[in-house]
Amino acid sequence: MSEDWNARTRAVHGGTRRSQYGEVSEAIFLTQGFVYDSAEAAAQRFEEAGEDEFIYARYGNPTVRMFEERIALLEGAEDGFATASGMAAVSGALTSMLKAGDRVVSSRALFGSCLYVLEEVLTRYGVEVEFVDGTDLDQWRAAITPGTRAVFFESISNPTLEVVDIAAVSELAHAVGATVLVDNVFSTPVFSNAIAQGADVVIYSATKHIDGQGRALGGIILGTRDFIRKTVEPYMKHTGGSMSPFTAWVMLKGLETMDLRVRAQAAGALQLAEALQGHGALARVIYPGHASHAQHDLVQRQLGGKGGTVLSLDLAGGQAAAFGFLNALTIPVISNNLGDAKSILTHPATTTHQRLPQDQKDALGIRPGLVRMSVGIEDADDLVADVLQALEKAV
Ligand SMILES: *Cc1c(COP(=O)(O)O)cnc(C)c1O
Repeated sequence: MSEDWNARTRAVHGGTRRSQYGEVSEAIFLTQGFVYDSAEAAAQRFEEAGEDEFIYARYGNPTVRMFEERIALLEGAEDGFATASGMAAVSGALTSMLKAGDRVVSSRALFGSCLYVLEEVLTRYGVEVEFVDGTDLDQWRAAITPGTRAVFFESISNPTLEVVDIAAVSELAHAVGATVLVDNVFSTPVFSNAIAQGADVVIYSATKHIDGQGRALGGIILGTRDFIRKTVEPYMKHTGGSMSPFTAWVMLKGLETMDLRVRAQAAGALQLAEALQGHGALARVIYPGHASHAQHDLVQRQLGGKGGTVLSLDLAGGQAAAFGFLNALTIPVISNNLGDAKSILTHPATTTHQRLPQDQKDALGIRPGLVRMSVGIEDADDLVADVLQALEKAV
């Protein structure tokens, strides 16, 4: 049974639904609607749709359902709802469960669009949002007051790769009855144990490691069957943020190779972090999987010592050195995605985090010399050599 399978088996076979043709590769059911055998059957299905009965692709679709079941099995969640993008998942999970007057506590170091949803959208509808330093348990303790409805954070922050203690924050949240929602992208579905550690809802942008080959946008909300089917599904199916069948097929095929890719990428990231320690051009090398990371003990407990596929480098020469470094690289590309098979570098201060006021950039450690490197599946020796030659040219 699929419940007894280990992760890599689940990622290849979990949730498979074969048609009468017995196809090996999952079928793409590129249809928005479904035909009913009779008027009575249509009425019956609208009353209550069974496991393998679908109504309209905004509500659900066999290919999308395969993806939802496969990733839910992998994460150890009861159920999942697939969305059109990672942001449809973040905004859908939060908006579906919150109402005016609710209080949310969130870490401050967030992906820009997540910050926009919490700071600009939810507050417009009367939700109270308080931001804390995600690494400071005292700040969480003070902010998670009785009556707090939800707690939100990215388990590893972007781009400074600070780790939030899922077990400790979940304990504080559960003591007041709050729901814990974790944006888990940087931890990856391969190294995550977020639900076992206390998270109630785990959210991924499937655009990152799940696709892993830069093709499609997607997202997934994972949680209890009750939360997914009674809170998330009614909201998502009526507001329109569902995943398309074609995207679900891309993501299913992505899941099959994700473990191999992500482990190779993490090994490459660790090799780079090792090779760059103490380099004269670098003020800091940040990688959660390296012993030099400030929260290495927490990384051991929470991620089995695995630091994910992203490392950040702070060039001592500031923005000029960072730009010189990016321009001198020959293998990685300059772009803003992450988790891809191709290594990708970003200068957060002038791109992904450009709009943040300077005082917030300072508070989040987004310094002028900081570059984020998402490590791909290229040969790690080639990447180390390329990074070293580019650092040489940058200063
Ligand atoms: C990319 C990302 C998102 C948004 O995902 P999209 O698929 O681009 O909508 C949300 N949170 C984190 C941490 C991300 O890296």
